[in-house]
Amino acid sequence: MSGRFLSIGECMVELSQAGEGLLRKGFAGDTFNTAWYARACLPPAWSVDYFTALGDDPMSDEMVAFMSKAKIGTNLIRRIKGKTPGLYMINLRNGERSFSYWRDSSAARSLAADPDRLREAVESADVIYFSGITLAILPLDDTETLLAEIRRAKAVGKFVVFDPNIRPRLWSSYDIMHTTISEGGRASSLVMPSFDDEVAHFGDASIEATIERYLALGASHVVVKNGAEGATLSFANEKAYVPAEKVETVVDTTSAGDSFNGAFLAHYLENRDAPAAARFGAKIAARVVSEHGALVPKEKLGL
Ligand code: ADP
Repeated sequence: MSGRFLSIGECMVELSQAGEGLLRKGFAGDTFNTAWYARACLPPAWSVDYFTALGDDPMSDEMVAFMSKAKIGTNLIRRIKGKTPGLYMINLRNGERSFSYWRDSSAARSLAADPDRLREAVESADVIYFSGITLAILPLDDTETLLAEIRRAKAVGKFVVFDPNIRPRLWSSYDIMHTTISEGGRASSLVMPSFDDEVAHFGDASIEATIERYLALGASHVVVKNGAEGATLSFANEKAYVPAEKVETVVDTTSAGDSFNGAFLAHYLENRDAPAAARFGAKIAARVVSEHGALVPKEKLGL
């Protein structure tokens, strides 16, 4: 089979500790990570494109080159004069990781500010992936522009996938966060939330409650991820539970959910078998949490 997969959001420059005061530079961000794993798992007949906005600085050029090298399409990316990409740093103190962000004025915040470009990107795709982080970084009017495009896409039969990825720090108020995340779910065909986020911010009493809430909003399918406890699926109202794989030593859980999503979607789009796709997602995510970093290369995924 073949098709066009489009992921929309923000990819940032990542700085991680490399010892002796040195920092290692990388590139990552939730929707980009999912595009990375979708690209690694989908056959070459599928295209995988990333849609965002970047600047015209050397770091933006490097990021585009990095994406192209990974065979992720960059032709749709907006380039904005005088802007730069967002940046985050992974701090390590006594073995504990924490993150510092510089993303308030990143180019990606303007990704929906050119509605024609956005429409062109969405219309060119068969499958559209976005997240709560994509929605959170946009000015309010642009959030509406993006959601309107996404609703149109779903209405004409495209497969729209949403990971709520709830990050309260990125939202100006709890109210706006609740409303907009719910609108994201309503605009989508498939919602892929993490249960711990949904409990913390929507107060869901059970996985069933999370599923019911997104189905009631209008999503057709829900896959709830629950870390080492596995995933629960409601696909076209058929329920299934798929356990996580056993991992000897968890090295770094960064990107567990993003990689699960990318692998799940790649498998599902080819085989239309949701439980088998979730088993594949769990297998890839287990390899990802056994390695350092958000983007584990294809060779290490056993593909
Ligand atoms: P997120 O990163 O979005 O919070 P989860 O923590 O729910 O996502 O993890 C997503 C998937 O990654 C899980 O459904 C599971 O398959 C896998 N996973 C995460 N943590 C572990 C773990 N400790 N052991 C095995 N698999 C894991």
